[in-house]
Amino acid sequence: MRFKIYSLGCKVNIYEIESIASLLQEAGYILVKNSEVADVVIVNTCTVTATSDSKSKQLLRKVRRENQSAIIVAMGCFVQLNSEMVEKDLDVDIIIGTNKRNQIKELIDEYLVNKEVMNKVKDSKEYTEYEELKLHSLSTHTRGFVKIQDGCENFCTYCAIPYARGPIKSRDSKCVIEEIQNLVNSGVKEIILSGINTGTYGQDLGNITLAILLEKIISEVTGVYRLRLSSIELMEITNELLDVYEKYPTKIARHFHIPLQAGCDNTLKRMNRKYNTLEYEQVINNIRDRFEGIAVTTDCLAGFVGETESDFIDALAFIEKMNYSEMHIFPYSRRKGTIADNLEGHLSKDVISSRAKKMQKLAENMAKNYRSNYIGQQMLVLVEQNKNGKWIGHTSNYLEVAFTKDGDYTNKIIKVEITNTANSTLDAEYIEEVNNYDEF
Ligand code: SF4
Repeated sequence: MRFKIYSLGCKVNIYEIESIASLLQEAGYILVKNSEVADVVIVNTCTVTATSDSKSKQLLRKVRRENQSAIIVAMGCFVQLNSEMVEKDLDVDIIIGTNKRNQIKELIDEYLVNKEVMNKVKDSKEYTEYEELKLHSLSTHTRGFVKIQDGCENFCTYCAIPYARGPIKSRDSKCVIEEIQNLVNSGVKEIILSGINTGTYGQDLGNITLAILLEKIISEVTGVYRLRLSSIELMEITNELLDVYEKYPTKIARHFHIPLQAGCDNTLKRMNRKYNTLEYEQVINNIRDRFEGIAVTTDCLAGFVGETESDFIDALAFIEKMNYSEMHIFPYSRRKGTIADNLEGHLSKDVISSRAKKMQKLAENMAKNYRSNYIGQQMLVLVEQNKNGKWIGHTSNYLEVAFTKDGDYTNKIIKVEITNTANSTLDAEYIEEVNNYDEF
């Protein structure tokens, strides 16, 4: 059987589709390019914004048009929340949402016998245990995402993910460690621990926390690698976790991505975020006191429902005070099925876009200031790729750095000296190749 895969959305989706690809390949299936003819096409969809919904629908239609006689498997968050519509309006054969993905081979076998559309989606609330999906290999050998958790119970008012992914569920630490060891053995040098709400790791298991998991990984996985957390909510940053960061300065990247979403208390409340700006500021100050130069990056929505001009001015002032090294800004987009959709005070597209642009400008200035601290400094870079003759990679504190040098430096750890910080990719001069992150 020949198969091909498509995935929309976040890194967790990419991890899941790559795991499914591994699973089918182990069962003897052959993965082919998207331009080739396949017997099975798997589409992993996304529902994070209204645009993701329409992209998911379009992709499912396009895949059917281009693969008239293939078995089409529709899965992922969009399918989970719209399975009846997918069954009725989109010409797909197997519908599996955000669960039963590890039974894909059996489901295809069942379809081959019955030749009837199968809709296996159930309410995500019913799935309380982590669904084990294993990643056997990676398309790149530099940075590898490892999923450690699924689900979210925060119910932010703008977000549909808790309905699509269900309750929090953590992966068995043994499986996490085994997978990381396999990736490190195959040459991966940075492991990014990810999930839907990564910081809640262990809460459903009872005898483990994210901090304990980090310690376990570091004591049990051997080889050259560094760990990075993809993102963590403010409420999940414990002293225990910071102690582990302090204990392993070279093993864990000096970087926290802590979503802010709104820099004003009124808006945070309407979003049902679980902190206010004062609490947020205290945690960030504590992190910066303990780890000099650590990168703090964030996500923020611009133009949320009911945000007044004065809320927005407060938000900009707060963001400036937080002095992020990088921000991802998302213009608020109305999304059906969320609580925010029914709130009063939706803003016009023009106001949302103008606020997003102002926030973006501030973000660029802060990033430039942060980068400028590193001029003349020596840093270690994990090289990911060569672009236009330059070797490009990231430092522990997530600065993107480029240098020129003859040879192949892919997946090597290189000591460089930063020479120019004007652009978002810093220029640097090669000093030497090192064997591991401890050599700094
Ligand atoms: S924390 Fe909030 S924004 Fe993030 S997935 Fe959960 S509900 Fe959505």
